[in-house]
Amino acid sequence: MKPHYSLVIIGAGPAGLSAAVVAAQHGVDVALLDEQSAPGGQIYRAMESIPPERAKLLGQEYQRGGKLVTAMRHANVDYFPDTQIWSLNRKREIGLLSGKVTDIITADQVLLASGAMERPLPFPGWTLPGVMTAGAGQILFKAHGIVPADGVVLAGSGPLLILLAWQYMHAGVKIKAILDLTPMRNHLRALPHLPRALLARHYLLKGMLYKKELKQAGISTLHNVNDLQANGQQQLESISFLHKGRKQTISTDLLLTHFGVTPQIHLSQAAGCLHHWDKHQQCWRPQLDEWGNSSIDGILIAGDGAGIGGARTAEHAGRLAALQAVCALGQIQLHERDLNARDDKKWMSEEMHIRPFLDAFFFIPSKLLSVPDDNTVVCRCEEVTAGEIRQAVADGLGDSNQVKFLTRCGMGPCQGRQCAEAVAFIIAAASGESLPEGGLYRGRPPVTPLTLGQLASLYPEERE
Ligand SMILES: Cc1cc2nc3c(=O)[nH]c(=O)nc-3n(C[C@H](O)[C@H](O)[C@H](O)COP(=O)(O)OP(=O)(O)OC[C@H]3O[C@@H](n4cnc5c(N)ncnc54)[C@H](O)[C@@H]3O)c2cc1C
Repeated sequence: MKPHYSLVIIGAGPAGLSAAVVAAQHGVDVALLDEQSAPGGQIYRAMESIPPERAKLLGQEYQRGGKLVTAMRHANVDYFPDTQIWSLNRKREIGLLSGKVTDIITADQVLLASGAMERPLPFPGWTLPGVMTAGAGQILFKAHGIVPADGVVLAGSGPLLILLAWQYMHAGVKIKAILDLTPMRNHLRALPHLPRALLARHYLLKGMLYKKELKQAGISTLHNVNDLQANGQQQLESISFLHKGRKQTISTDLLLTHFGVTPQIHLSQAAGCLHHWDKHQQCWRPQLDEWGNSSIDGILIAGDGAGIGGARTAEHAGRLAALQAVCALGQIQLHERDLNARDDKKWMSEEMHIRPFLDAFFFIPSKLLSVPDDNTVVCRCEEVTAGEIRQAVADGLGDSNQVKFLTRCGMGPCQGRQCAEAVAFIIAAASGESLPEGGLYRGRPPVTPLTLGQLASLYPEERE
């Protein structure tokens, strides 16, 4: 790896892959870094190594990634897998860990294409062994062909839940139940967006097909479920929930939950980019212009890390951001950038027709977001409960960072990744505010765990 590149792209998912290809086509000296050991990102994970039978089980959308990965492999891109980025600053200095080696490289332009993560949502029992997210279940399936042997309960709200159920069904996994926590009132909320969504009806048709096939296979989905709870002493033994006013219990040693995805903003935050609260997507997202320029010169953001748009949107956004970076580097003129961007802009706006409908349909009710009972652990690294956070607010602390100092929530190895949003929602609700707009933890590097030894390896001469 060179100490300096014209363009460094962080993340080899659809956004990063398409961006790297465009940059290389324009003769830019480009490095593509990703913590995974192979390109593809979340959706096209393990694309190059997956056996064809397993790829078929994942559906047509998964197989689409092959073209993107092949194009990157054939382009003049310096691709570095197994490379974790732990810091980025406004001078575009990028801290990375590759194997045991820590390094800092610089770039004239940085494109953050680090994607999304599943929204962590605390509920009673969510820290028990045997409770995982649907995304984690899907990663095991895609990357290693591992599926639940003794059946599974899927619960939550969001398209990934239905997709995983469909993929598991085809793989022969026993699905004990699908618990849909989407409130019925979301149908009404989404209705005004239906006409526009029909312009992208392939998404709606795909979802309906998955549901129909699940039903035909006899897999029951319970809708409008409430009060989900995971029960067990040392590990998950059962789950209970309210359905049609009646409490029900299902024995299971595996529960996979999903409550949508939110942008990974840890690096953009560490760099000091401005962010705002998106009330429709219920998350913080970076402030960007139409080309992906952030508030910091030379730092661009594309794909789900810029706001949730899905894999195809990420692909177009990656190309647009790459054209902008290429233009900023002086390789093309503004009019060439605009000309080359025309198709991607058009396709991207077509892809976005479905978004307002999906955002409204899978809107997570504030009851789920802000009212875990007092005993529920919210920060799982430091084992801080919802009650302790409420007590801190009652003691006069009204800001996430103050609550963090007092309780240590958000100070563990995940650096607040798992609890930031939940803490902000609890504080907002306890302070009588409806939205957690101002509640973002201050983000500081390292954004991922790093040992002191790894950090010290940056300065070998000072170890003597
Ligand atoms: C767990 C999960 C599973 C999903 N599965 C599906 C699916 O099956 N179908 C679907 O349509 N959508 C799926 N999605 C949504 C999907 O991820 C996106 O729509 C799409 O992949 C976004 O593309 P992207 O390029 O923006 O980011 P991603 O595809 O997420 O790629 C981002 C890449 O950046 C890397 N990265 C992030 N942070 C760092 C760092 N600090 N250092 C180094 N590398 C880093 C990640 O490892 C990843 O490879 C899933 C999302 C999640 C969170």
